[in-house]
Amino acid sequence: MKKHNFSAGPSILPQEVLKKASEAVVNFNGLNLSLIEISHRSKDFIAVMDNAQALVKELLELPEGYSVLFLQGGASTQFLMAPYNLMKVDGKAAYVDTGSWSSKAIKEAKNFGETVVVASSKDKGYSYIPKGYDVPADADYIHFTSNNTIFGTQLNEFPGGDVLKVVDMSSDIFSRKIDFTQFDIVYAGAQKNMGPAGTTLVIIKDEIIGNSGRTIPSMLDYATHAKAGSMFNTPPVFPVYVSMLTLEWLKEKGGIAAIEKENQAKADLLYGEIDNNPSFNGFAAKEDRSNMNVTFTLADESLKEKFDAICVEAGISALNGHRSVGGYRASIYNALPIESVQVLVKAMQDLNK
Ligand code: PMP
Repeated sequence: MKKHNFSAGPSILPQEVLKKASEAVVNFNGLNLSLIEISHRSKDFIAVMDNAQALVKELLELPEGYSVLFLQGGASTQFLMAPYNLMKVDGKAAYVDTGSWSSKAIKEAKNFGETVVVASSKDKGYSYIPKGYDVPADADYIHFTSNNTIFGTQLNEFPGGDVLKVVDMSSDIFSRKIDFTQFDIVYAGAQKNMGPAGTTLVIIKDEIIGNSGRTIPSMLDYATHAKAGSMFNTPPVFPVYVSMLTLEWLKEKGGIAAIEKENQAKADLLYGEIDNNPSFNGFAAKEDRSNMNVTFTLADESLKEKFDAICVEAGISALNGHRSVGGYRASIYNALPIESVQVLVKAMQDLNK
């Protein structure tokens, strides 16, 4: 039975990417060797890394002066690398708290110095994006999460002010057109819109590297990885390769402008049903709704068993909300076709029959 995969991450990847990736595991580039058994210093793999980095720059329209890194340790390691590299000794960092992932980033920053939470939506269960706050001019940087995977909220406007900007884009990178020149560090775990788990994309403005005045262990220092072209140590070869394939797929589709249109159509369809169907309630404030993670609840919890059975019957997979919030969450990342959203909408309508 065809599955409709609404997983929040690791999540759906294009079928053709999975097929090419599986072929490369057996016989890469016709070498009669597997991608995962050749040296990362071989010319065949170096071409993969170069191509992956070039595709990131092209798709996101990054100007000169940014390094593109494929690191390990997940976005969670960036929660500590960013403050380690940017917060001055006796300095200060500003954070916007919009959910569990922001909170985890804040916890890590506190290990390095004064960490000010300039705005939070915790008062209403992280169901909205705080607005209209001031960014302290003396902060070394401000950190925010562009899309809150668990709660289903998304930033439409990014903090301003004359301080460095660090953004966790794990769950909406490559999904919409954004001016990336406004950011100094962008990071994202690969396992939503880019590829399999196992690598973390870091985009960093070169001029901000090495200014904290701290002595940083090599592996946690952006300078190490930027200088070595993301090849200081053995990179995660398979996740980088599959990310390259996914970015090629996205380019062939017409890039970010094309996928943004598709993502908008999917989100409109699903939110339209949530708003029109009396059996469901949306979780996030309407103006802050995410186009990647759509969170909703049943108006009558006693219908859960019935709805879950309809979903199983329709091949709908991984629709449960995050364990910390309950309800439902449909993750409708780039690779999820609109047909899958149509199947979900029909299941929601069938509940009322
Ligand atoms: N930030 C966001 C917005 C996330 O959605 C996630 C994970 N889903 C993380 C950070 C943590 O990523 P990782 O598991 O790669 O450390």
